[in-house]
Amino acid sequence: MSDWLDFFARRMDVALNLLRELVEMESPSTDKAAVDRVVRYVAERARAAGAEVAVIPQERWGDHLLARWGQGEGGFLLLCHLDTVWPVGTLTERPWRVEGERAFGPGIYDDKASAAIILTVLEGLQAMGFPPRYPITVLFNSDEEVGSPSSRPLIEAEAARARVVFCMEPARPDGALKVWRKGTGQYTVTALGRAAHAGADHEKGINAIEELAYQVLRLQRMTDYGAGTTINVGRIEGGTRTNVVPERAQVRVDVRVKTIAEWERISAAIEALTPVLPGARLVVEGRINRPPMEASPLTLEPFRRAQKIAARMGLALTADGTGGASDANFTAAMGVPTLDGLGARGDGAHSGDEYIFIPSLAERAALLATLLIEW
Ligand SMILES: [Zn+2]
Repeated sequence: MSDWLDFFARRMDVALNLLRELVEMESPSTDKAAVDRVVRYVAERARAAGAEVAVIPQERWGDHLLARWGQGEGGFLLLCHLDTVWPVGTLTERPWRVEGERAFGPGIYDDKASAAIILTVLEGLQAMGFPPRYPITVLFNSDEEVGSPSSRPLIEAEAARARVVFCMEPARPDGALKVWRKGTGQYTVTALGRAAHAGADHEKGINAIEELAYQVLRLQRMTDYGAGTTINVGRIEGGTRTNVVPERAQVRVDVRVKTIAEWERISAAIEALTPVLPGARLVVEGRINRPPMEASPLTLEPFRRAQKIAARMGLALTADGTGGASDANFTAAMGVPTLDGLGARGDGAHSGDEYIFIPSLAERAALLATLLIEW
């Protein structure tokens, strides 16, 4: 067992208490006041751990937080989001609880455990008097779960100055890091027809639902499991009442792609959709939001490096990938070496049984501390 594992294992109570506090401050992306509260709390903790702290105010979304230990180019950039997908009040139904080695609570695994790990590590390094070898910047953002619309420029500006990005998203139960992630996009396809009385003037109408039905089939057929591409028409609405030929119908579509080539192919195909019924019109809106993070030297080299460092600590790190995107997709797309999935081990992100393995708090804290010292 490495010294750092031992060190953080002894500080487990502190880390777990901190995590409980973070989980009990509910912070859905869509509730600015709630997210801002957690941001202020984390800012205070980071300042106490010796960071220079800057809160970047936002109008619509929660504020973002930059915490820096050391100045200058070529440092580490750690990414961690403080927003969750859970509305305020979820905690009343599913309060914090510990069962054996597992801790439960809304947002615990995605991504509050990572905030607890980061703060525990930096408090630990400070207590042990370890000056960071390279400057460390932690960007805590507040809009990751809605696609990082307001934090993206900040993420990219910080990543451009960084030696490597450590994206503190959760790890699967076995602790595997993520060396690839699919790119994601959302589209809205609206069919416009012509309303008419379904009895008196049926032939004068252009049925928008009928038009959209053709497009739904076209969209669904773009799925190619072999290439890792999925298209999911996930929501549909349209029409008014049964005796009216519907004038308007709309679908919302989720797109996932594994490669840049597929990204280009699918965006072109969606934008090229044309109406089938004479006189009908189509409006296509949306785009691929997070580009795919392909398994490439940009993700594999940092992984191998981390694997070697972890092996010296007696930790066997494995690599994996996922269909979900994260802010690592942005930084890898810029050509910045990116290591993702350094958060706690657990499961059930975005589900009612979200949990973490409590011992992984110490394990991942020791891993992060060692990476920061030995990189
Ligand atoms: Zn997350």
